[in-house]
Amino acid sequence: MPLIDGHGRKHDYLRISVTDRCNLRCLYCMDADGIDQTSHSAILSYEDIVKVVSAGAELGINKIRLTGGEPLVRKDLVELIRKITAVPGIKDLAMTTNGTLLPHYAAELKGAGLNRVNISLDSLNPVKYRSITRCGELHDALEGIEAALQYDLKPVKLNTVLMKGINDDEVLDFLHLACEKPLHIRFIEYMPIGDHDHGYSNHYLPLDHIRATAKNAGLTLTPVPLPGGAGPAESYSITGGKGTIGLIHPISKHFCSTCNRLRLTPEGSLKACLYWQDEEPVQPFINDKKALQALIKKVLNSKPAEHQMDADGKCGAVKPGKMRTMSRTGG
Ligand code: SAM
Ligand code: SF4
Repeated sequence: MPLIDGHGRKHDYLRISVTDRCNLRCLYCMDADGIDQTSHSAILSYEDIVKVVSAGAELGINKIRLTGGEPLVRKDLVELIRKITAVPGIKDLAMTTNGTLLPHYAAELKGAGLNRVNISLDSLNPVKYRSITRCGELHDALEGIEAALQYDLKPVKLNTVLMKGINDDEVLDFLHLACEKPLHIRFIEYMPIGDHDHGYSNHYLPLDHIRATAKNAGLTLTPVPLPGGAGPAESYSITGGKGTIGLIHPISKHFCSTCNRLRLTPEGSLKACLYWQDEEPVQPFINDKKALQALIKKVLNSKPAEHQMDADGKCGAVKPGKMRTMSRTGG
C-alpha cells in the first residue's frame, strides 16, 4: 500500500538532514557567523535515523537523500551509509554536498553504497566563490566534482542558485561546462528561507534568464529525461553537450503537485514540506515501529497542497520566528 498524502500524491522519498553544521557560510543559507547549532547530544543518532528509514521503507519509501548542513562534516557518515543501504527496500541513496570534502571521502562513500551526489557550486570564479561561501576555496569544490566523476557517484548533478547581480553573468560559463563535461547543472531559484531575508529581495531572479541567455548564445535546449530522475527539475540537453541543464523554479512555477518527499531534521522532526512550520518529533516513538509508521502517515496527512512562498519573499502560512533556515531543515 503506497504512502499517499491528503492530496493524492504518492510519497517514496525521504530527505535526511544529518547535521545543521557546515564548513561554509553561503550567503543565501546562513548568517556570516553561522547559526545556533543544535548540540551533539540533541542530534538524532545514526541508530535512530535507521529506525525511521526502516519504518518508512515498509511503507514504500525507497529513495533516501542525505543533506544538511554539510553532511560530510558529521563524524563517521560512511557508517550511516552502510546501515541505510542494508535496509530492505531502499533502492537509491544520494547525497547533497558542497563537495569540498569529497576528495577525501568519495572512494569510501562509493564503497559503502552511496549511489550519487549533487554538488552545490554557484560560481566558477575563485574570488566570487569565496565571497558567496564566505570562506570556501573553489579548487576544493572542483576537486570534489572530479572525485565524484572518478568514483562514479553518477549522475553528478550540480546545484547552482541563480543570484541577480552575483552570478547571473556566469550563466554562459555554466552552460559551456555542461557542454564539456558529463555534469547535470541545475539552476535553482533563490528561496526566501529562514527568518532573515539573507539578500533574497535584492538577488532573486526568475529562471527565464537561463533560457534567454542560452537563446542569445545560439544554444538550443531540448527537453530530456535524466538518468536517476530529474525530481522537480525541467531537464534539457544542449546540442553536442556531454551534460544537461536543469531548471528548478520553486518560486516562479510551483512544482508542489508532483512532490513526493518527506524530510527528517537533524534533531529528528518529520516535516512534510520545506516551507511549512508543522513538524513532529520522532523520538517519543523511536522504539515502536508501528507508532513511527502512524506518525509518518499523520505528517503526510497534514501536508499542504502547495507552499505559499512567493516572489515577494512572504509566506502567510508560517508564523514569524517559526521558519527554519535551509541548513536546519535540509535543502
Ligand atoms: N551543504 C550541502 C550543500 O550545500 O549542497 C547540503 C545542504 S544545502 C542547504 C542544500 C542545497 O540548498 C544547496 O544546493 C543550496 O544551494 C540550497 N540552498 C540553500 N539555501 C538556499 C536558498 N535560500 N535558496 C535556494 N537554494 C538554497
Ligand atoms: Fe553550508 Fe550548504 Fe548552507 Fe552552503 S548551502 S552554508 S554549503 S549548508
